[in-house]
Parts: sequence; structure tokens; C-alpha cells
Amino acid sequence: MTYQAAANRYETMPYRRCGASGLKLPAISLGMWHNFGDNKPFENSRAMVLKAFDLGITHFDLANNYGPRPGAAEETMGRLLKTDLAGYRDELIISSKAGWEMWLGPYGDLGSRKYLIASCDQSLRRMGLEYVDIFYSHRPDPETPIEETMGALDSLVRQGKALYVGISSYSAEETAIAAKVLKELGTPCVIHQPRYSMFDRWIEDGLTNVLQEQGIGSIAFCPLAQGLLTDRYLGGIPADSRAADAGNHFLTEENVQLRLVQINALHRIAQQRGQSLAQMSLAWALQTVTSVIIGASRPSQIEENVGAIHGLSFAREELQAIDQILRQ
Ligand code: NDP
Repeated sequence: MTYQAAANRYETMPYRRCGASGLKLPAISLGMWHNFGDNKPFENSRAMVLKAFDLGITHFDLANNYGPRPGAAEETMGRLLKTDLAGYRDELIISSKAGWEMWLGPYGDLGSRKYLIASCDQSLRRMGLEYVDIFYSHRPDPETPIEETMGALDSLVRQGKALYVGISSYSAEETAIAAKVLKELGTPCVIHQPRYSMFDRWIEDGLTNVLQEQGIGSIAFCPLAQGLLTDRYLGGIPADSRAADAGNHFLTEENVQLRLVQINALHRIAQQRGQSLAQMSLAWALQTVTSVIIGASRPSQIEENVGAIHGLSFAREELQAIDQILRQ
């Protein structure tokens, strides 16, 4: 059936300025790391992307290696951009990245100019796009001069293959250097993508200050700690959950067990606020970052998570109670 985007899609989602740039991002963005590859039904991936867009999510976060099969998530997006979303390209912010291993040999990993430019070209081909809106260096490369990695990002903008550039998982010190190099090249660093959630607050220890000083926006990945900060595990580990997937080494049953007491305590605070734990966790992260990139395995999770925008503020006592739980 022909897709027609919801007429009211811009009525509730807040769009927040990304640092000192002209770019506005939805408070909630959708990431395509899991559940958009060859191992999942295309119809579910399609339903999630279209549900997200209908709810005002204009930003879709990808990377060269998202799948499985690396590249498959970009192909899924490419298929949708050719069909359902064909008339909406200018309403969308599509990001991609290079920095983790993508192909064999010395030119398919990390941060060389050779890798970044070739990988961006591949991403554009997979998605059938002329340009991505944001292209990232996915991680710092300790062996390549930062001038070379940032120079490659600058080139991509000058070649018209990316509109904005960003960095992911760079430390506060690395970020300050990257921002300086990019500024000198005339291409500002617009965004930093760090991991950030109630269970991982490393950015508060220096990075947020650098971002503030440099006018760089921020977008948190894994804001729900891969599902730990939701109702998913309150009653055990469901068979269809990420933690139950033996092939996934990023979230294990042991991780769940270690956090259960905190998850239950946080859930009680969320209930008192009239929110689900996922909604409270996203609202909490949005106090610090421009946008949060949620993952999802079904459209109903996206619907629930977007509900976070109706309760973004916290009383001081609530924040203190959360801090106390996180210290346990
Ligand atoms: P989240 O922390 O948002 O976890 C998503 C998972 O949580 C879902 O797959 C689902 O798990 C569960 N979930 C989400 N909403 C709900 C809900 N309402 N109720 C119950 N369970 C829920 O993020 P991800 O770990 O998926 O990462 C998000 C994005 O961040 C990625 O897609 C990617 O774009 C980006 N990213 C970037 C990285 C980088 O290095 N720059 C690294 C990692 C991610 P289940 O499958 O069990 O249903």
C-alpha cells in the first residue's frame, strides 16, 4: 500500500538546535544498529521507520557496519528511500559513519583518509543517496594523525557527499583537538555521538564542558542501556529480547542480573512520575544531550519512547533519588 506520512507529524516532537549550528534534530532519533539487517523481516523494519517518521522522528542514524551483514541496514534504508520515503528526502536527516572494521585489509577500518572516503562512497551507493546529512568518524584512531581523519571529513563536505560532520566516542581531550582542526579547515564539528545513559555517565566528566565551549551538539547512543532502562527485564529475561540473544555480546544475561535492583528502584520513581522507565530514562538523558538515539525491535516501543517528550522536566528531589539509586 502507498505510504502517506501522517499529516500531524510535526505537532508534538521538539526539534532542538544542534550546538551552534543551523541544524535542528528531533529530541528522539532512531538508530538502525540492531533489527534492520538481513536477520529481521523487512516488513518490521519498514513499519518501525515509518512509525518513527509519523511521530516526528526525522533523524535516522546508520553506520557502514550495521546489519548483520555489514551494510544491510543501509540497504534497508535505501529500499525505503526509493519507495515509501521517496517524496520525503528533504524532511530527513540521514547519518552514517566509518571507523569500525568493514572490509578486509588495512583500508577497511579505523580513521585513514583512504578508508573514510571509500566507505562514505559505499554508504551512499547502498542507500542510493547523493549525500548524507551527517557523516561521522565512528571512533578515534590512535595511529592516524587526527589532521588526516578530520581532513577526510572536511573533504567529504567539500565534495558534496556530507552536509555536516561529527565524531563518535572521542574523549574530551580528543574532541577539543578534533574541533580545533576542523575549525581551521573551515568545516565545523557539529555533533558528538557518545554513549550516555543513567548507567554510563562518563561524558559528565569533562566532555560536556568541551562540547559547550566549542558549540558542538550531542546525541546519545544506547540511552536505554540496550533495553536495561526499560520495563523489558522487570519480570525476567524474555526469549525475544536482546539479552537472550546468544549472538549478542554487548548485553548479556549477567548484565541484566547485576542491574536488577537498580532497575526496579528506578521503575518505581518512573511510575510515581506517571511515566514508563524507558520514558523517564530518555527524559533524564535529554537534560544533558541535544537528542537521544533509541533502538527498537518493534513499532510499539518507538511509540512508547516518543511519549517521553510529555514529561521532560524533573523535580530536584527526583534527580536526587535517581542519583542515590545509581550510586548503589
Ligand atoms: P537503546 O539503549 O535505546 O536500546 C534499544 C533496545 O532497548 C531495543 O532494541 C529494545 O530491545 C529495547 N527497548 C527500546 N525501547 C523499549 C521499550 N519501550 N520497552 C522495552 N524495551 C525497549 O539503544 P541501542 O543500543 O539500540 O542503540 C541505539 C542506536 O545508537 C543504534 O541503533 C545506533 O544507531 C547508535 N549506536 C551508536 C554507536 C556508536 O559507536 N556511535 C554504538 C551503539 C549504538 P529488544 O530488542 O530486547 O526489544
